[in-house]
Order: sequence, then C-alpha cells, then structure tokens
Amino acid sequence: KRLILIGPPGSGKGTQSPIIKDEYCLCHLATGDMLRAAVAAKTPLGIKAKEAMEKVRLSIYFFLQIDVLLSAFHEEIDNLDQMLEKQGLKVDKVLNFAIDDSILEERITGRWIHPSSGRSYHTKFAPPKVSGVDDVTGEPLIQRKDDTAAVLKSRLDAFHKQTEPVIDYYTKKGIVANLHAEKPPKEVTVEVEKVLS
Ligand code: ADP
Ligand code: ADP
Repeated sequence: KRLILIGPPGSGKGTQSPIIKDEYCLCHLATGDMLRAAVAAKTPLGIKAKEAMEKVRLSIYFFLQIDVLLSAFHEEIDNLDQMLEKQGLKVDKVLNFAIDDSILEERITGRWIHPSSGRSYHTKFAPPKVSGVDDVTGEPLIQRKDDTAAVLKSRLDAFHKQTEPVIDYYTKKGIVANLHAEKPPKEVTVEVEKVLS
C-alpha cells in the first residue's frame, strides 16, 4: 500500500513513520514513486529533483519529508497523480497530521536528531536515555540549523500556502485520514493503527 504522511514541520511524521514501516511493512512510500515519476517525465520539479538526487544520497528519512516534497509538487499534483495511476502506483491513503500551529514551536525547538538514522528525540517529550546521545548507536545527536522559532514561521507559511491545497486535493478523492497530531506519541500511534487496520 502507498501512503503519504503529510503535516507541518514538527507534527510527528518522522516519529510515527518507523512504527508504520515496522508494523505494516509499508516500505514503499509514495513520495519516492512521485519523485521518480517526476524525474522520468522531466517536469520542472523532476529536473530539480534529479540534480538533488545526484548530489545527495537520499535517505528514507528524506523521502518522509512529505511536506517539503509535496509543496514542490503543488502545481504538478494533478498531472503526477494521473501519471502514477497509469503506472499502477496509486496513492491509497493520506495520513494528515492535523495540529494547531501554536504547538509546533516547542516541538521544533526541542527536537534533537540522530543524523544517520533520522531518529528524532525531544528534550521534554521524548528524551534520549543519555542526554545528547542516540539510544541505539550511542552516537551524538544534533539540532537542525533550521529548527528555530524564526525559521519555523517561514516553513509554516510555506506549508499553509503550498501543502494544504494538496490535502484538499486528496480529501476530495476521499482518501485522507485526519489524525489528532497534538496528542501524545502513543495515542497518535493508536490512531494510525486504526486507520491502517
Ligand atoms: P520538516 O520540518 O518536515 O522536517 P522541512 O520543511 O524543514 O521539513 O525540510 C526538510 C528538509 O528538506 C530540510 O533539511 C530542508 O533543508 C530540506 N528542504 C527544504 N526544502 C527543500 C527543497 N525544495 N528541496 C530539497 N530539500 C529541501
Ligand atoms: P516531523 O517529522 O513532522 O517534522 P517529528 O516527528 O520530528 O516531526 O517531531 C518533532 C518533535 O516533536 C520531535 O522532537 C519529536 O520527538 C517530538 N514529537 C513527535 N511527536 C510528538 C507527540 N505526539 N507529542 C509530543 N512530542 C512529539
């Protein structure tokens, strides 16, 4: 099944995605397909994406940054969606991490990341066992340069302008599940499981 996780920065996509992959083995996430379709079709986004793919080895984590990718897809979404369907790559479900903007600053400014795995922690809501250190590898955690209150503002503007129309697009198609992303992580997981069961 092909799933899209969509939501503003800090809404919990990265936190829930490993759970989704482990429990449902939904290893095939829709953005990877979309990106490759755009590259193949040489759309403006595809040309940009190809350059980026040649420069950086895109990790799974990158593919999960759906809000970024879909905001870039915005103007092409209808075409891309039709193209995907023709190739048998239909999007089955969209998980919308619905959350109020006011909650996101604390989430974003407290986020610590293990860069090579994409695991994220939070100083208050999901602290690592040892401060500043990844639970699994023992390697150091970092803060993203753009995880500041000021940069969050412009990322949220972009989300509302460019990404929300994508949610509307899929809502009209009847495949969006709206999650209560402001709830604690475990409760969000239960909601995700319900949607996918
Ligand atoms: P999130 O807050 O959901 O993690 P961001 O919107 O901040 O996502 O961006 C995620 C990552 O993608 C960041 O490292 C950012 O620098 C990078 N990024 C943002 N916009 C683009 C883009 N148009 N093309 C490629 N990478 C981008
Ligand atoms: P996204 O991938 O959507 O940008 P993350 O999953 O990285 O968001 O979550 C942002 C920050 O908030 C991280 O530090 C994470 O540990 C924390 N977090 C994630 N989900 C929740 C939640 N349901 N409640 C509280 N904090 C959360």
